[in-house]
Amino acid sequence: MTDPSQYVRARTQEGRGDVRWPAAPEPLAVPVYDNHAHLEIEDGDEPLSLGDQLDRAADVGVIGVVQAGGDIDSSRWSAWAAASHPRVLAAVAIHPNEAPAYAAAGRLDEAIAVIDELAAQPRVRAIGETGLDFFRTEADGIPAQHESFEAHIALAKKHGIAMQIHDRDAHDAVLETLTRVGAPDRTVFHCFSGDADMARIAADAGCYLSFAGNVTFKNAQNLRDALAVTPRERILVETDAPFLTPTPHRGRPNAPYLIPVTVRFLAEELGADLDELCAQLASNTLAVYGSFD
Ligand SMILES: [Zn+2]
Ligand SMILES: [Zn+2]
Repeated sequence: MTDPSQYVRARTQEGRGDVRWPAAPEPLAVPVYDNHAHLEIEDGDEPLSLGDQLDRAADVGVIGVVQAGGDIDSSRWSAWAAASHPRVLAAVAIHPNEAPAYAAAGRLDEAIAVIDELAAQPRVRAIGETGLDFFRTEADGIPAQHESFEAHIALAKKHGIAMQIHDRDAHDAVLETLTRVGAPDRTVFHCFSGDADMARIAADAGCYLSFAGNVTFKNAQNLRDALAVTPRERILVETDAPFLTPTPHRGRPNAPYLIPVTVRFLAEELGADLDELCAQLASNTLAVYGSFD
């Protein structure tokens, strides 16, 4: 087998405009974690190594990252990164947009077996990202998404670890599945994309809502409405780096060191004390994924 540490892929820079790394924000006084990022994807005018990413993050008070996988290679890389760096924990899964291709090749069971094996590693603390995506997948791929999602739910329960849900244009179907088969104890809606009603339903079901940089976007009032009704002990924060860079850096590359921009925005929206919110976010993150130590 190839060395998983060698797996990196470059994000396309074509037609992107300004791909310089934004300046580092002012450090947070109380440290937080980025609970969902894809650090195997190189971005920006000068790609950053994993070590550089983690150092830049630590410099501004972001002391840990949950690295999420989406296929066999990126999940193996995530498990490797977590095993190699004390500031990284891993989530592993076949992404809903990858599941149809594995299924078409007759390899979905085999892929899920790899995820099962990786999930047994001590620093793999979540199954993710899994879920449903009706935006990017054609109708004929939907049955494979459902099959994969339910298999991933079973894996999170089997290993007693958290689950990170990717839900794009599939709110009702995701909630229906969770109600029907039962959600794992610690279930996170990564990059929460619903409205206030959905936030209430998810929080009442005991799920966590993870807000990404798009909560700062002008057209995202639904996310700010959702944030307003989410109990503080259910809120998480993420970058989904290298994507979803928060305002005022929208369109440029994203990385965990930029999460203070989103955290300050959340504090302002909530009318919360910044340090208290950071402490709450950190404690929520550890409650979901366990200790980084
Ligand atoms: Zn996602
Ligand atoms: Zn993601």
